[in-house]
Amino acid sequence: MKLPKVRELVEAVKALTHKPYTSKFPFKPHEPYPSFRGQPEYNADRCLGCLACEETCPAEAIAHQDMIDESASKRVMIHYTDTCIFCGCCEDACIADHEGIKLTNNWELAFFERNKAFETIEKDLQLCEICGSVIACKDHLKWIAEKVGELSFASPTLYQSRLKSLGVVDDNIVSAVKDYGRSDRVKILCSRCRRETTLTTA
Ligand code: SF4
Ligand code: SF4
Repeated sequence: MKLPKVRELVEAVKALTHKPYTSKFPFKPHEPYPSFRGQPEYNADRCLGCLACEETCPAEAIAHQDMIDESASKRVMIHYTDTCIFCGCCEDACIADHEGIKLTNNWELAFFERNKAFETIEKDLQLCEICGSVIACKDHLKWIAEKVGELSFASPTLYQSRLKSLGVVDDNIVSAVKDYGRSDRVKILCSRCRRETTLTTA
């Protein structure tokens, strides 16, 4: 008969006194290790809709869709659970102090219909006040204006966004006149309309 080695005997004795290495799942909920990398989740209050996470995602698990409506345009940020590899690059790249999207401990991600394996959040979009094209999310413009401080007064788009976020200027004021006149330069404009209104002699 082959005798057990000393190391194996030591391991066997240790195992008698050590608590189990495995969890009792599914009879008890499994508690993952604190640094476990599970499902990333958006925080709609902190996300700025800047798209840095979408740019950096190596698995193309993040996408966005801009819903244009003159009264309430929205950017929908979409995270696809089924293609995510839980690498954490999105959280690392998040400009909102890494709080806009964060990995969680959530690992129970089974689903029956693959086309429902996603989560979304919505952010308000700022449109150009002349041509209606997308400039950025309102929270993103406000964030930039706060970051650059008094330098934002060099950009009507930034300081108007800041004034609107402070409630000094009504958020719904949009001029009905769309004539590319020089008086339009103080509006929230896309780069093309900014150029047009700057170069016009009217
Ligand atoms: S954890 Fe990685 S793969 Fe998943 S959404 Fe974030 S960047 Fe993409
Ligand atoms: S603020 Fe963060 S979570 Fe939101 S779009 Fe930008 S990088 Fe993504």
